[in-house]
Amino acid sequence: MRITALTLAASLFTFHFLNSSVVFAQEHHFDHNDPKTSIVEPIMHHGTQAYKNGHGEIMSTDQAYELSLEERVDKGYTLLVSADGVSSFKSSESNQNGPVFNLTFLDVVNNTNKGFDDPDLGEQRRNVLSKAFAYYASVLNIPGKADIEIQESFFQNSSAPFAYSASYYFSSKGFNDGLVASHLINDYDAAAGLPDGFIQFNFGSAFNYNYNTTSAPSSSQYDFYTVALHEILHVLGFTSFCAHDGTSEAPNDYVFTSYDEFLLTGNLQNFFVKVGSGSQVSVTPVDVSFITNNQMLFDAGGSNAPVYSPSSYGGSSIDHFDNNRSQGADFLMHPTLSKGKRVTMMHTDEAMVLQKIGYNVDIGLATSINEAEEIDLTVSLYPNPTTQHGSVFVNLQGGIGNKEILVIVYDMMGRQAYSKVVLTEGDGVITAIDPYHNLAPGMYIVIGSAKDELFNQKLMIMDHNGSVP
Ligand SMILES: [Zn+2]
Repeated sequence: MRITALTLAASLFTFHFLNSSVVFAQEHHFDHNDPKTSIVEPIMHHGTQAYKNGHGEIMSTDQAYELSLEERVDKGYTLLVSADGVSSFKSSESNQNGPVFNLTFLDVVNNTNKGFDDPDLGEQRRNVLSKAFAYYASVLNIPGKADIEIQESFFQNSSAPFAYSASYYFSSKGFNDGLVASHLINDYDAAAGLPDGFIQFNFGSAFNYNYNTTSAPSSSQYDFYTVALHEILHVLGFTSFCAHDGTSEAPNDYVFTSYDEFLLTGNLQNFFVKVGSGSQVSVTPVDVSFITNNQMLFDAGGSNAPVYSPSSYGGSSIDHFDNNRSQGADFLMHPTLSKGKRVTMMHTDEAMVLQKIGYNVDIGLATSINEAEEIDLTVSLYPNPTTQHGSVFVNLQGGIGNKEILVIVYDMMGRQAYSKVVLTEGDGVITAIDPYHNLAPGMYIVIGSAKDELFNQKLMIMDHNGSVP
């Protein structure tokens, strides 16, 4: 097919980076995961390694895990997400600099045609979820990997939550690290053959999700990126096993999570007291009234974060933070989300939770990523179309500030044709492609990013006849 210059649309786009501060009355709750589904115990079953959950049921793993990771990636079942986004199998294997999340989508594996396999929305959903995992990968200075199962989606409205999510846990007496945390932090897979954690999303039509990660949801939409960030934080270990009476929700006594260790009473005492060692360990609350007196805190280093502890105990109690006691802070981990509302990063207290339970977190980066991107950027790429031997420029207007921008040019096969790093000193023109770099005639995508994507535009390079092959 030959495309002439006249068919190309004007290459002027406006991107809006806005945070909604309007709170709407309609809200919905996140999740009430049953801890017994996330507690696992290794057993021998018919002579092979297997696991049973906290209900005593033998866990069945999907047949997809019989394939190698490389085969799962090739089939599109598994996406490898690092700080740079979705990567290929080879580049992920050579990634020495940070964590990698291996996301296996059972909707895709089982070809459900729904959820993450939906012909219209599946790709967007996978992209937004990958971007949310990439946010965590970019702020965690740890070497390991985690195998996350994105279970088959469900489709309910009314009272069903946005999602269920958890890390799997072994259940020793005392405070247990989740398998996700230990695989990420120690780069050791303690439960080979089993995912380290899971998320199951609800795509009931009433949610009318916003899948745009750079603009706020409308007043009739919930924000999927916010939901994804919330669920992933649970998977990373923001989870309590504290039952209504201060005992453990696990099948065995005195089994709690590493998060539970840092709960504080309103009098700043440790809420749980651990006594003894080994099989003699006991973990008991100092005063059970704090579970339901709206005063529970989390020891977040410099500050004490308000733990959701309403007067009637429910599934969201203790493993969420409470915006109503936060003096204006917006937590990702508030137990409900309103339509039109968007939270795009952790609060400092939430980043401190990860730090407390053993991660090395870049707290400044984790809590400032989007502040810097609240700009209303106008981008124009010119000349476009162009010929083979000229420079290509990008005019950036709208308060870009000093930024290191990575410009990458892909051909239509998705191959990287060119890349360079450009430093900006405020608004103005940058040279995106240098004149001596000859790109063959054809269509290209030019992407500029500075942690977040800043622009994404088509570029057409014509041959000497003024057309594009
Ligand atoms: Zn939650």
